[in-house]
Amino acid sequence: MGISAIRAYRVELPLHEGSYKWSGGKSVSVFDSTVIEVETTEGITGWGEVCPLGPFYLPAYADGVRAGLKELGPHLIGYDACEIGVLNARMDSALLGHNYVKSGIDMACWDILGKTCGQPVCTLLGGRFGDDITLYRAISQESPEDMAGKVAGYRAEGYRRFQLKVGGDPDVDIQRIHAVAAKLQTGDRLVADANTGWMLHEAMRVVRAVQDVDVYIEQPCRTYEECLSVRRHTNHPFVLDENIDSLEMLLRAQRDLAMDVVNIKISKLGGITKARQVRDLCTSMGIAMTIEDSWGGDIITAAIAHLAHSTQESIRFTSTDFNSYVTVSFATGAPQRESGTMKASTAPGLGIEPMMNVLGDPVLEVK
Ligand code: MG
Repeated sequence: MGISAIRAYRVELPLHEGSYKWSGGKSVSVFDSTVIEVETTEGITGWGEVCPLGPFYLPAYADGVRAGLKELGPHLIGYDACEIGVLNARMDSALLGHNYVKSGIDMACWDILGKTCGQPVCTLLGGRFGDDITLYRAISQESPEDMAGKVAGYRAEGYRRFQLKVGGDPDVDIQRIHAVAAKLQTGDRLVADANTGWMLHEAMRVVRAVQDVDVYIEQPCRTYEECLSVRRHTNHPFVLDENIDSLEMLLRAQRDLAMDVVNIKISKLGGITKARQVRDLCTSMGIAMTIEDSWGGDIITAAIAHLAHSTQESIRFTSTDFNSYVTVSFATGAPQRESGTMKASTAPGLGIEPMMNVLGDPVLEVK
């Protein structure tokens, strides 16, 4: 099942809400996503996707995906797409770092492996736990009143998990958390995600001011050491995201008891293979997980669903359905949200079929 060609397609994904805003005044109105096609000599084709959250969230950017594929692609031609361990070792020896570039190829190879053995990726990753996956809704940074209104609206659509984008002015963030918490009911969960946006003194003020609120605090500051300090000064349940970008960081944070929940983003870790390794370790160590990616459309949502659905329910904190945030669909068969939940496809591979009329011509081809 040798890789005979790798192609990249560029897709623009506008947001239903018009824009998505988070800490430090950062925002995106149209996501620039790269869909990756891996073609094999046997005629089986796999699909992956990489979609950075703009160029200023993680060390990743949309044109970097395409530039990285141009560099990496020629090293992979002829390699067996089903030997995913060998392929990952090859990618790591040909290009140091740049996890996000490798993520889409790894994802496409899982799609090929699933199609080859007639099994959904979810089954290959361990099997299906439970009937569905509980989703969170990210609430873009707005005024406290507007965020409370959004939460009430999404709650009416069936969501029970909410991730507030804070990390702005700490006085306003305190109001945001209180305003939203007032809308919630027993069984709902609230996360205040600062996305590295607070200075240490600001984070300390916020956690103290909301100490009577049932809220998780996520990635308050930029560095791991700052976050660890906040963690040690608060009794709020604590989530780490941006800092957990490797197995080494996960193990270090576990030794420090630095968090209760980690966010596993597929592209941050370099693909499904490496995300699964972190997922399995977290399962063994009893660390709850949000399983997701930085952003994406139909293919990333499908990949998230397979990784999340094959994760034990007791350790699965929440997950996300990015394809419901954007106005463009480019593949059939992707999970569709139903009352705050989604399911992994039961079809072979990722279970998606790209719409070539939406993808258009490839912007890159390596053969
Ligand atoms: Mg986060």
